[in-house]
Amino acid sequence: MKLPDIGEFGLIEKITGGTVFNPKNIYKGIGDDAAVVYPTGVDLMLLSSDMLVEGVHFIYGKISPFQLGYKAIAVSLSDIAAMGGIPRHVLVSMAIPPKVTVAEVVDIYSGMKTILSRYSVNLVGGDTVFSPLLTIDVAVIGESSPNSLVLRSGAKLGDIIMVTGELGKSAAGLEILRNSHLSEKISLADKEDLLSAHLTPEPRLAQSSLLVKLGFITSMMDLSDGLAGDIRHICKSSGVGANININNLPVSRGTQELAGLVSKNVIDWALSGGEDYELLFTVPPGRQEDVIIAFDKAGLGKVTSIGAVIGPESGVELTTANGQVYSVTGYDHFKNS
Ligand code: ADP
Ligand code: MG
Repeated sequence: MKLPDIGEFGLIEKITGGTVFNPKNIYKGIGDDAAVVYPTGVDLMLLSSDMLVEGVHFIYGKISPFQLGYKAIAVSLSDIAAMGGIPRHVLVSMAIPPKVTVAEVVDIYSGMKTILSRYSVNLVGGDTVFSPLLTIDVAVIGESSPNSLVLRSGAKLGDIIMVTGELGKSAAGLEILRNSHLSEKISLADKEDLLSAHLTPEPRLAQSSLLVKLGFITSMMDLSDGLAGDIRHICKSSGVGANININNLPVSRGTQELAGLVSKNVIDWALSGGEDYELLFTVPPGRQEDVIIAFDKAGLGKVTSIGAVIGPESGVELTTANGQVYSVTGYDHFKNS
């Protein structure tokens, strides 16, 4: 069925059922001029929005509607994780071109509801317009308190720089999408791991919550554009520099193998592939082992020390274990090609 057959209101009706996953916060969800939610007695509200535009952030036809919906929400929840907060509600605004069918829009929402349900976040409203390009904007409302909030600005000289998960997987996943013949050359498990990192990334909310509980994290952000560029945000906000040991960057064996197949340097994917949505954070010197032990105990996956906070005069230094300076080569702007 095509959109003109059911119109804006018919479509809204089809997608807005079953959108409340944490009812205690809701007074009135979708269906009035504005959503009405109860304040939850927290000290601070977190507000953020993210827009995904066809041809810029995704290629229509290369990502399934379900995955697109899932990813749009994941990217937004990741911003709340990056602050040490808890996401509560989202508003979804969509611009939909005529080529998109009603079934596809329903699938986009099915992907959204799957991840919203997983993290008990409500979909409380949005807007729907028709336009030439598919665009999805997700606004998220979260909560925090002054004690648990983690800003980009708290990194101190001597702090250790750490990262969750593994880097460069999303870039590797994108490479598989671009060159489908590659998928025959790697194991099915690796293929699924890399594709899901790119198509349905998981916001690191559990990891963020644990880091907040540890209570000593000094700064944090999520990695959307790639470590080499993103670390500069922490440096600028905190008035510090950073030394990253590129030999310590966590990369999976599958990512490594795929990089080899396409003659790319896996370090460059880890540094500037982008869209990893892992957490980059700093801890006071000597605390890194506490983080590693806590992650291990909680079964929250990998966490790795990748460098140290240095004086602002040095900027961002990428060095090998024996101190050689590394410069990023073969930079790809993945999102635009
Ligand atoms: P209005 O014309 O007052 O802006 P709409 O007719 O656009 O209201 O929307 C009706 C209801 O459906 C509102 O609660 C709105 O938040 C919700 N809504 C509209 N579009 C979407 C969408 N794409 N996703 C989720 N909720 C939506
Ligand atoms: Mg409206």
